[in-house]
Amino acid sequence: MAIQWFPGHMNAAKKKAAEQMADVDVVIEVVDARLPEASTNPLVEELRKFRAKPCLKVLNKIDLADPDATAAWVRYFEQDDAVTAYAMTTKKPADVARVIDKARALAPHRGVPTKPLRLMIMGIPNVGKSTLMNALLKRRVAKVGDEPAVTKTQQKIYLDKNTAIIDTPGLLWPKIAMPSDGLALAASHAIGANALIEEEVAEWLAGELLRRYPQLLAARYGFKTAEMDAIAVVEGLAQKRGYRIRGGDWDYEKASHMLLQDYRSGALGRISLETPETRAAALAAFTEA
Ligand code: GDP
Repeated sequence: MAIQWFPGHMNAAKKKAAEQMADVDVVIEVVDARLPEASTNPLVEELRKFRAKPCLKVLNKIDLADPDATAAWVRYFEQDDAVTAYAMTTKKPADVARVIDKARALAPHRGVPTKPLRLMIMGIPNVGKSTLMNALLKRRVAKVGDEPAVTKTQQKIYLDKNTAIIDTPGLLWPKIAMPSDGLALAASHAIGANALIEEEVAEWLAGELLRRYPQLLAARYGFKTAEMDAIAVVEGLAQKRGYRIRGGDWDYEKASHMLLQDYRSGALGRISLETPETRAAALAAFTEA
């Protein structure tokens, strides 16, 4: 057995992930293209650097993200020589089809039956890992014969005789660097469905939309956004749609839910909640405070 060395501060879960990564050729890290940094777990980068593994950074769900912001993120991530950034959506089979070729280019010494390309798909919940995995498996052409017993400790799924996906290590949760990361994640994924939280998240999202995409608010709801603040956006939506609670007041709860729905479904347009520039500015402001 090879001697393992880990820094003293590495906890057990981390060590396990680092161990699993030892036998991987390329790490496929999936993030949400609308919020690529907020939807990241820094452990992936830490471990792949520790293991000196190349990374295919998949910016998934580009069907929902702002194309200009996505292009800026791709340029940003590719400043790292070990990273190929790939913007895609699992909704397009042609996009899925390119994933393996992109990964293979990062490990040209692998990808033959005696040395299959070994991939590991990592990322926080809800970024589309299972959807990607299922789409890759659907494309699988050849059934693969029995696995030798030595691979028992590590589950491998062969896509073809030259390519294997190593079972993903335990769940990676996002590391919330700033409170706005939590809000961006809650707005983008259907987590925290409780109404109180929805109102808070919707108000935050309304503020971001006013700042970043006022024209999309104007186009969908006919708002004159110059005169509005975040609460006015939620209230305006209730007015436009006639959402009232008993007694006649505006139904903020329903309006909040609808705003989030319209963002999540893409009905509002293609929206990114961070760019490399706004991320850097937010981090700087946060660390100063
Ligand atoms: P996982 O937790 O990372 O495995 O994420 P899932 O594969 O379960 O996907 C989370 C949600 O995102 C599901 O509702 C998927 O249908 C959706 N999803 C995955 N990929 C895409 C994509 O490219 N575009 C859009 N719009 N939704 C996607």
